[in-house]
Formats: sequence, structure tokens, C-alpha cells
Amino acid sequence: MPPPLLTAHDATGHVHLIIGSNPLASARCTRSIEVGAKPKVVAPADAEVHYALMKRIEDGEVEWIRQTFEEEMLTALGRVEVDNVVDAVFVTLGGKKASSTHISTVCRRRRIPVNVVDAPNLSTFTLLSTHSDGPLQIGITTSGKGCKLAARIRREVASTLPPNLGAAVERLGTMRRRIWEEDHRALELEDPILDGDDDDGTPQKSTFNQLVSDADLSAAKTRRIRWLSQICEYWPLRRLASITDEDIDKVLQSYTNNPVGPMNPTPSLNSSPPPHNNPPAQKPQIILAGSGPGSPHLLTLATHRAILTATIILTDKLVPSPILDLIPRRTAVHIARKFPGNAEAAQTELLTLGLDALKAGHTVLRLKQGDPYIYGRGGEEFAFFRDHGYDPVVLPGVTSALSAPLFAAIPATHRAVADQVLICTGTGRHGIPPHPPPYVRSQTVVFLMALHRLAALVHALTGAAASSPSAGPSTPASHWPPATPCAVVERASCPDQRVIRSTLGDVVAAVEEEGSRPPGLLVGCGEGLEEESEGAEHAGEEAADAAAEGEEAEEEGEDGEEEGDEDKREHEAR
Ligand code: SAH
Repeated sequence: MPPPLLTAHDATGHVHLIIGSNPLASARCTRSIEVGAKPKVVAPADAEVHYALMKRIEDGEVEWIRQTFEEEMLTALGRVEVDNVVDAVFVTLGGKKASSTHISTVCRRRRIPVNVVDAPNLSTFTLLSTHSDGPLQIGITTSGKGCKLAARIRREVASTLPPNLGAAVERLGTMRRRIWEEDHRALELEDPILDGDDDDGTPQKSTFNQLVSDADLSAAKTRRIRWLSQICEYWPLRRLASITDEDIDKVLQSYTNNPVGPMNPTPSLNSSPPPHNNPPAQKPQIILAGSGPGSPHLLTLATHRAILTATIILTDKLVPSPILDLIPRRTAVHIARKFPGNAEAAQTELLTLGLDALKAGHTVLRLKQGDPYIYGRGGEEFAFFRDHGYDPVVLPGVTSALSAPLFAAIPATHRAVADQVLICTGTGRHGIPPHPPPYVRSQTVVFLMALHRLAALVHALTGAAASSPSAGPSTPASHWPPATPCAVVERASCPDQRVIRSTLGDVVAAVEEEGSRPPGLLVGCGEGLEEESEGAEHAGEEAADAAAEGEEAEEEGEDGEEEGDEDKREHEAR
């Protein structure tokens, strides 16, 4: 059975017919009164009436129809404006009684909502286990699977909420209404026909005018509501729950003083006051965080939290969109404009942006791919911000260097097979390839930023290109056997991850055949894994088409430049 549709009814003035006079009928009456409905109890004159219910009857809160149920009641006891049809029927007699089945049938026939206790099959709606805190209502249903369980879950959910949340909901609702009314009043005064964003050029004469800077007339119209949505969405509930009338007044006031201030809120995990024109109570903060190899599931909780709480995020294009999708809609995001030849300028631009944001009181998240300190310039950026008086918080990330091999089922170390692991780059500064590491039988070697020059790297490793100028400064003392098992792992952890298993001798041809799907890395395995080599086995999806291959190969070089200092000249010389 599909799950039920949950709705919240405005039951003000509705007539609820409650069949029975037992304790449950009493509870139903209480609930009906709470929601503004008029309960009418149907029970014979000689019925035993629960004492609390009797009290309500005596107090005139509940009307007692002293008869057994009759079908005509359904169309006689309701509100006049709905032709005396009752709004809902609650049967408290139990589902096994024939009368319950009868009442259910006649209600359904007339499309009157009916609930029969303990009989979901006879009910057209069920009641939720509810937590009520002023305007805040939380309802749980197990779709009839267990009311005790529903109550338990409801208690559990409610216990996680901060106290006074209902009052905060009330306050924020008032604030929202005030903003809405003021904005609309302003617009109406100005020109009642105006709507949407089309009035940018209209002279502003009303109070609304004061909120508007010449530069952003259209943004100003929705600024306060957007700000409110933002704090509702991203402020920690505890902070929201403690919002006071004074806070709200200050915020509204600050809009009048400065239209731009509230566009840049600084939500914080601490109990800082709402952002407004005063200097931020929260110290500006810079967080250098790693976002892992690509899948959002490999984000750390710390980085995820930073994504949700930062007010500005500076990121790289290597951070894939499923992770960028986690960024709250209204958080400013800048993605580094790095492309070959522009790496330094883009890096400088990013750092400047970060510094400016800090000076403006922001919580800045510098989000990097993988681990920020593995070929990610983390150290340089740390030093930059520290030198300008801001000590960054560093959040490590899962590096692709160690996780990508594992996603390809290649352990970086394995007892009796590989007792060391080496991470290196295939791309050196100023276009000079780094010295290739010597072959060590028990070592796993991971090359990042290497695929765009795979052939040269492999030649350098195997010694085949010792005389080639692109092979590096010198030939390593110990060459790698061409039979060394290796794998190219691309887009590790992403849905389009691909693994090309091969040997050093064959990997260049294998990659040429399959094309490139950056970012990717090369992992070379020590002799211990030799027996497991299966030649070029492709675990991924189909190869990219030939045209795309060229582009992707370029991309790889660019990525190298972006994250790992690849020099422009090296890239362009290819
Ligand atoms: N700081 C990053 C590495 C930056 S250097 C980290 O710790 O992962 C960029 C290189 O990382 C790319 O050229 C590629 O070699 C590698 N890389 C990044 N993400 C990858 C992924 N999902 N799969 C395979 N290799 C990846």
C-alpha cells in the first residue's frame, strides 16, 4: 500500500461527530477543541460517559446527541454553510463492531472523512502522533503499522529539538509577515500595477526607496525575505530558537540603515546574533578543507558542516558538482577560473577574494579537491592567510592518491606484497618532469597529474627513454620492469569511475585505445601484485569518442596545473 498523503487541515468551526462516550471519545473531543472544531458526541442517553467528557459537556464545550447513530445525522448536524454535512466522523467503538462498519460505509458513500479506531481498513484518514509547540506541529505516522512505535518516534524526534522552537517559529513568522507587508505596501504606494522585477527603472519615492541602493534595485525588493529564508535554512536550530524580538527589530532596523548588510549574513554554529550593520560578533574565519576524491559520501562531517555554514565558498573546478550541489543556494560560491596559462592569476584572484571576504566578516571556506595538502597548495594558502592575520582552520580530506587505488581494489599496502606507498606527481614545476622514482619491489607508487604525459613517464620509469629530453633530468638507477602491473584510475568514487588495468609496458597503448576521463591517476604496483595482472581489463564504461579524448587530455594537463603547480610552459609545449 502506498504511503498516505499528509495534510494539515484548518478545522476552525468544523463539526466533528464523535461516536461513543468512552475515554477515547473524550480524548478526541479534547483534540477537536484544540484545533478549533466543534465536537458533537453521539451516544445513547443511558450510555456511560467518561468523566472528563462529561465535564466538557457540562461546560458547554461539547454537545451530546443523546441517541444511537443514525445516518441522517451526517447531513443534519453539520455547519449550515456546507448544507449541514458534518466535516469529519470519529468512531471510537472499535473496528470489530458492526455499527463501526456501517458508519464507515455510509460516511464513505457521502465522502465524509471517517476514522474508526484501530481499523485502518474502515478509515479514510488516520490521526498522527503529534508534537505541538505553538504553531509548530510535528506529526508521525507509521501508516497503521504501530501506534506505540509512532509515539516513540515522535518523542525521539521532539527530544532533539531545542526548547522554545515553537515561540521562535511564531516570531520568525511575524517577522516574515512584517517584511512582506512593508515591501508590498511600499510597492503599492509607488505604483499598484508594479509587480515582479520590472520596476527597476521606476523612480522610487516610498519608504521602500530607503532600502534600495541605485546599483541593485531589483535585488532590494526581495532582499529581506531572501535573508530571512537564508537564516531559516542555514542557521542552526538552536540559534533560531533563541532569536528574540529585539534581534528581529535590530535586523529590520539595519535594513533601513543599510540595504546591503543583511545580504551577507554570517550564520555561525555559535550563538552569534543575527547579522546586521554592527561589526560581526563572530570572528571572521577561513577554513581550508578537502572535499575528497569526488563522491559526496567521502566528505568528512567537518567539511560538510563547513559547506553548510560558510558564507562564502571558494572552490576549484575539480570539486565535482554533486559536492557543489550541497552548497546552500544562497551561499556565495566562486569557482577558480583556472585554465592553462592563468593558474597563477586565478590563484591570486582566489586568495584576494578570500582575504576581502574575511575583512568583511565572512566565514570563508576554501574548498579543495581530495586532501588540501596533497598537491593542493594547502600550505601556500595557509601561509598567505596567516601572514594577513587570519589563522586558517584546516580540515583534511580523503586524498585521491590513497582512495582511488582502493576504489580500483588495489590496496596501497598489503602484507607480504607492498610495505610502502609513495605518492608523487607526474608534473613538475616549469615543465620539467620530476625525477622518476626508482623501482622498489615492495612499493606501491601513485602518480597524480601524470596522465597527460603518460608515455614520457612510462619511458622514464622503464628506462626506455633515457636519452629522450622529456624523460627527466637523469635516468633512475633502478628501472621498472615493463611487466610491472599498474592501473589508471579515473574519476574514482564518481558514478563514471573507470579503471584500466594493465602493465607499464602496455598501459600507454591501453589508454590511447580507451581515451582519457580526467581526473585520473596512475598506480604502479610492486612485484607482489604481478600474478594478479590481467592485462588491459577495462572495468569502466565505454570509451569516450575520439573528439572528446583530445579535449579530455588537455583537461588533465589543466587539472595538473590547477592543483599541483604544473607550469603553463610544460602544458603548452605538449
Ligand atoms: N589534492 C588532491 C590532488 C590534487 S592534484 C587529492 O588529494 O586528491 C590533481 C590530481 O589528483 C589529478 O590530476 C588526478 O591525478 C588526481 N585525482 C583527483 N581526483 C581524482 C579522482 N577522483 N580519481 C582519480 N584521480 C584523481
